[in-house]
Amino acid sequence: MNKDLIELDGAEGGGQILRSALSLSMITGKALRIVNIRGRRSRPGLLRQHLTAVRAAAEISGAAVDGAELGSRSLTFRPGAIHGGDYRFTIGSAGSAVLVLQTLLPALLFADAPSRLAISGGTHNPLAPPADFIERSWLPLLRRMGAHVDFELLRHGFMPAGGGELAVRVQPGELQPLHLMEVGPERSRSARVLLTGVPGHVAEREMERVRRHKGWSTASTKVVRLPEDQGPGNALLLDIECEHLTLVFCAFGQPGISAERVADQALRQADAWRGSGTAVDEHLADQLLLPMALAGGGSFTTPLLSDHLRCNRAVIEAFLPVRIHCQPTTADGQHIAITPA
Ligand code: ATP
Repeated sequence: MNKDLIELDGAEGGGQILRSALSLSMITGKALRIVNIRGRRSRPGLLRQHLTAVRAAAEISGAAVDGAELGSRSLTFRPGAIHGGDYRFTIGSAGSAVLVLQTLLPALLFADAPSRLAISGGTHNPLAPPADFIERSWLPLLRRMGAHVDFELLRHGFMPAGGGELAVRVQPGELQPLHLMEVGPERSRSARVLLTGVPGHVAEREMERVRRHKGWSTASTKVVRLPEDQGPGNALLLDIECEHLTLVFCAFGQPGISAERVADQALRQADAWRGSGTAVDEHLADQLLLPMALAGGGSFTTPLLSDHLRCNRAVIEAFLPVRIHCQPTTADGQHIAITPA
């Protein structure tokens, strides 16, 4: 087996296998061969978001790539050195700009110079981290690990129109381990509704549902009416700010789904996390693994071993000399620890 070529089967999960593998291929300099990309998804292969991540990764690392086409189910990626600089990437659909950013950011921390990124596409997509989550939950933790990253949401992009824009600055530097075993005392709760091209009563009903929910009656509330050309779109974001981290839960308005159901979706996620007594919610968990592995250590508790967490763990262990230990805690939850192998 060639130690400098990492071979992965993408059918085990979704786009995240590809994105984490691209980041790690660039950082370690190891070539990547991935087959069955998103093999069990209803539309398998590279969609626009994934293809943009591949092309962007190739551009920042001068990689030679085979298979970078829409719908492609296999890819070979041979990276060169990672170069900082001014970059612009356009997804050309509502595919998540945030997920493209998450592919590039870890690598740009290892670049030879600072970078400025402009990425356009979706910024508030179901099944991807919304820009608010990156800004108030994920990035503050990366900064605590030592990363110097400025993040600005210039325009919102919702499904299906897209057209959102992120502006990000990244300063190369090392990451330090982070341990998140508890969140500390809760400081505040807030609810924010983003709205454009959708009647105002939707925001009022979502907020009313939140206010009546146990634990949310005193939450601060804000309705953000966005310009019409950034829509249509509606998102409800619930923040729970604790001493050691902020959790951001979200749900999206959709035709045929009542405002009350949208609010209930976000509230259920917040309740499930709070009830688990763990520090890190399901989504943050899989997105902290890679930075912690790059830092050479870290730990946290989280409610469950999600498929994303399992897949990301396998990809990271294929590239880096680390072990990711997952153990049930005495209460309901998992204790995750990243250690040198
Ligand atoms: P696919 O269609 O193949 O599933 P994808 O490329 O859109 O792929 P996934 O592989 O499913 O993406 O990865 C989605 C990522 O988005 C995961 O890291 C997941 O934790 C994160 N995510 C999904 N929903 C949320 C949310 N509400 N808040 C924060 N992060 C989220």
